[in-house]
Amino acid sequence: MTGHPSPSVISRYADGDLGLDEATVWTVEVHLEECADCRARLAGSAPEDVLTLLDRVSNGVDQGVTAGPAPVPERRRWSAARNRWLVWQLVPWLTMTGAVLACAVLLQAVQPSLPSLVLLLAPVAPLPGVAVAWSRGSDPAWELVASTPTAGLPLLLRRTAMVLLVVIPMLGLATDRTGVSLALALLPCLAFTTTTIALGAFIGVRLAALGLAAGWGLAVAVPAVFTADLPVVLQPGSLGVWAFIAVASAAFATTRADRFLRRR
Ligand SMILES: [Zn+2]
Repeated sequence: MTGHPSPSVISRYADGDLGLDEATVWTVEVHLEECADCRARLAGSAPEDVLTLLDRVSNGVDQGVTAGPAPVPERRRWSAARNRWLVWQLVPWLTMTGAVLACAVLLQAVQPSLPSLVLLLAPVAPLPGVAVAWSRGSDPAWELVASTPTAGLPLLLRRTAMVLLVVIPMLGLATDRTGVSLALALLPCLAFTTTTIALGAFIGVRLAALGLAAGWGLAVAVPAVFTADLPVVLQPGSLGVWAFIAVASAAFATTRADRFLRRR
């Protein structure tokens, strides 16, 4: 378009007239970008309500500019609140885990013929804590996690480490009291934790924890109690397999770090 669009075209454009064909709308827009006169004419021909709205927006922006920037909340206070939240959410679950392990130790003392209950519980011992550590329910960090590209997996790993720091000494004490191998308790425990995280990348960490715990209970733990045999997966020969599962699922989870951003 060489000249200015006619005033009638500009006013029809301002009214959003659907009768204007696409080519005309496009040429008007290109022309408006470089012609201040026509922009002024367009502003004048905008409908009354649009002009009022523009006025309100412009006043609002002016006030915002003169008021200065909003105060930035303190980061330390925020992360302290987050940690306090996590500790209070975890306490009941970790207490329960400790109580269940203590019951296993007691039962073992009363019924030495049972297969090691501590070993049967070890793989799933950290899962309730991991599931809670990753619960979106009342987590004040959730918004932050959801909107920060790097927060997902590292935050989950830090929280998981907190859970393991409590659960591993419990397992150490329980295996010591019942005289079973600590390695046979620890490696399956780590392997289940890392598998939960890897699987969590696809179905969500809570569901993964629940599924793995239920699967282990139904397929291994309950049958072992009934047959009174320690399952082959908890015999010393299986340590290499558990180590492999732990390393492989941890490596896999890190390659899927982006999945923890679109989270469930
Ligand atoms: Zn013009």
